[in-house]
Amino acid sequence: MGTPRSMLIISAHAADFVWRAGGAIGLHTENGGKAKVVSLSYGENGESGDLWLESGQTVEAVKKKRHAEASAASSALGADFIPMDLGDYPLEVSGASLQKLASIFVETKPDVVLVHAPEDPFNPDHPVASSAAQKARLLATGAGGVPASFETIPPPVMYAFEPHQPDLCSFKPDTFVDVTKVWHKKSEAMSAMAAQRYLQEHYTVRAEQRAYQARYAGFDKDTKYVEAFQRLTPEKRSAL
Ligand SMILES: [Zn+2]
Repeated sequence: MGTPRSMLIISAHAADFVWRAGGAIGLHTENGGKAKVVSLSYGENGESGDLWLESGQTVEAVKKKRHAEASAASSALGADFIPMDLGDYPLEVSGASLQKLASIFVETKPDVVLVHAPEDPFNPDHPVASSAAQKARLLATGAGGVPASFETIPPPVMYAFEPHQPDLCSFKPDTFVDVTKVWHKKSEAMSAMAAQRYLQEHYTVRAEQRAYQARYAGFDKDTKYVEAFQRLTPEKRSAL
């Protein structure tokens, strides 16, 4: 048996990876791959929804809850959860944090990387996370295989996962993943994110709509749930 395929997911906030890539992660691990979710922040300020309805709530208490939720969601998907706790709204990634992220790339040696789309006019943090993930990938891979002063890894394929408002984020899906057989895992992961229950139905409907669309690309009627991605790196083929 060869080395298991490795997936690295970079999420701005503690739940983003669940809604947008939970199926693809669950499928990857179901197929024997290893997956690692790096959450740059807990989304404690801007994306912890219902937790801020509780009186006397504090940032530290929200972070603790979000840690527990995101750990449970990752575990439902068979992934490791690595929080960087950089803060959110605004998320800022310092040079030192970027180096740390690059070192995670080097130690993980991912075959595939999932990141936020580069644009999001309605979210202050998602483009920051996308840019940081893309820079870290470049720092880890170096310049086209030439020797460098630092350790480098082969360039992983990178996809953007679907934004909340895809058409307003210039998101043009070119890759559909049938996640029907692992939908129970994504469902369990979504349920773990109790602070944002209002998104569970939203992303269930989104996956059903993408399944309809994916049938035009050749999926059959047994395909009930699909996640959409946009490839950000060229495809490597030896022939067409
Ligand atoms: Zn987010």
